[in-house]
Amino acid sequence: MNPLLPSRNTLPELQLLENLLDRAGSAVRAECVLRVPLHGRELPVWRLEMGSTAPDAPVAGFFGGIHGMERIGSQVLLAWLESLVSRLDWDVSLQDLLQKVRLVCLPMINVGGLALNTRANPAGVDLMRNAPVEAHGYTAWPLGGQRLSRHLPWYRGEHRLEPEAEALIRVVRESMLHRPFAMAMDCHSGFGLRDRIWFPWARSREVPPHLAEAVALRHIFNSTYPNHDFYLMEPQSLNYTTHGDLWDYLYQEHLDSGDPGFFLPFTLEMGSWLWVKKNPRQLFDWFGHFNPVLPHRLKRVLRRHLTLFDFMLRATASWEQWLPQQEEARRAYRLAGLERWYPRGG
Ligand SMILES: [Zn+2]
Repeated sequence: MNPLLPSRNTLPELQLLENLLDRAGSAVRAECVLRVPLHGRELPVWRLEMGSTAPDAPVAGFFGGIHGMERIGSQVLLAWLESLVSRLDWDVSLQDLLQKVRLVCLPMINVGGLALNTRANPAGVDLMRNAPVEAHGYTAWPLGGQRLSRHLPWYRGEHRLEPEAEALIRVVRESMLHRPFAMAMDCHSGFGLRDRIWFPWARSREVPPHLAEAVALRHIFNSTYPNHDFYLMEPQSLNYTTHGDLWDYLYQEHLDSGDPGFFLPFTLEMGSWLWVKKNPRQLFDWFGHFNPVLPHRLKRVLRRHLTLFDFMLRATASWEQWLPQQEEARRAYRLAGLERWYPRGG
């Protein structure tokens, strides 16, 4: 049986995370950014930081557990953090890298949802529908977000930010915005057969403002790791649009601020339907729709994304080497993106 399956009153990921903090000592700066009351306990939402504290250092942000039952998102991040902490003891190249780059991680944002094994937070709100952002044009109802009832999925809440959403926004504002360069990866599971890397917007089918930058990142990833072609990198809105996406909200805030720095939020959607297809018994298990159940498959997923996360950290540290900054280069990358994803004009 999968050792990371939750049972009543245990939260194995929180145990893993707190053990990791003990082991890491001063190499990881940890702060509890929120306490979520649940069943007479207070569950901590941890923020972890490593590397440079220089205000102009580029920042790589990693996020997981926004949807509690998609716990594989927290688990892949914890597996990677374990590996980083172990490597700090001996890997001089990692130590050098962390001199240049700041790493911020909120691996278990919706800790109450993780404990309850629900997508929503304990108040029944889907945090990825909770931001004050209205989608443009057609949005599938209720998937795009609804205010009819907290007992239906994709509930947006009552026109105010939930504490977990506020905590996420605060961390991103403090640690990622108004820097020369920041890139985020928010880890989810549950959509489709392929692992997807999405970039904003979720709220609009318009061509995303940073299409050129996303194409450039895709290009260096694919040419560096030609055998990792299992990722499908694309604008999220090709799949569906939603109201209330927290990354749209932060992305728009950054665009509106006129800040010359870059803020590129990506979402990793691990294609969980593949796990169900390979193990149809998972069909009868709600947990199984969103997480690998068999131990060998869990291990495979835990190691599958280590390369991507390492790549994100290195690409952040070296952003000036690959990000198109001349207008001509930007135009060429944008054109490549338009041809790939918007063949009928964007
Ligand atoms: Zn999700």
